[in-house]
Amino acid sequence: MPELPEVQEVRRTLEPFVLNVPIIDIKISRKSYVRAGAGSLPSLIGRKVHHTARHGKKLFCIFDDGQVLLIHLGMSGRIDCCEPATPLAPHTHFSMLLATGLEFRMRDPRRFGGLWHYPHWAAAEKAEITGKMGVDALAITAGHFAPWRTMRSRLKAHLLSQRTVAGLGNIYVDESLWLAQLHPLQVLCKIRPRHHAILADAIHAVLNKSISMGGTTLRDYRNVAQQRGRFARSLCVYGRAGMPCLRCGVKLMSKVIGGRTTVYCARCQKRI
Ligand SMILES: [Zn+2]
Repeated sequence: MPELPEVQEVRRTLEPFVLNVPIIDIKISRKSYVRAGAGSLPSLIGRKVHHTARHGKKLFCIFDDGQVLLIHLGMSGRIDCCEPATPLAPHTHFSMLLATGLEFRMRDPRRFGGLWHYPHWAAAEKAEITGKMGVDALAITAGHFAPWRTMRSRLKAHLLSQRTVAGLGNIYVDESLWLAQLHPLQVLCKIRPRHHAILADAIHAVLNKSISMGGTTLRDYRNVAQQRGRFARSLCVYGRAGMPCLRCGVKLMSKVIGGRTTVYCARCQKRI
């Protein structure tokens, strides 16, 4: 599933196709895939994307008159910008013809992703970010973890919830916790302030390294140029259960935590 680095890579490779290019036409092949504002989507015709923004795993296109199109890739969402004559891939739910003659297409076989249309940024921010999501993971600092001192949730489940930090999913939570040497079932209030800084640094290190390698492709993920991410070969714990820990050599453990397969080192990642 695309997490922050993959969405960032989609954003970087999408911009050259859509920035400052008027939209000529819009086709919605599956109406239910537009989760909000389907009726008002035609008002994007004639407009052009002025800039893009990302918060966690959410990608926003902000148009020249302020309208906002939110793209969520979900588990298997993929964007392609191609010639309109290119045969339509199965599960293409939405397309926009661009003034360059290319067509923006979004397909998503598993349909956990979607599109949301908002009249302006304040509406998008209120519905999507405020009160729902924490700070974007690339902006996280130790100070953002201060409220954890009174919280009894478990570390991994809380990080997956997006409430303190937005953008981490199963892969990057496991990688960050291994690097910070924190146990996934650690209770938040027991984490010492010293470890808040270590965790913030670990999140930055893991995400920035993955971004520099174009993200992680396990199966489906491709950027808009249809390239795979190259970070999979640099994963330290994800997908390595039963293999030796790269720090201490002990066999990595695998456990289902919060419904997700979790890989960690029982020796390096002690519960405090
Ligand atoms: Zn270890």
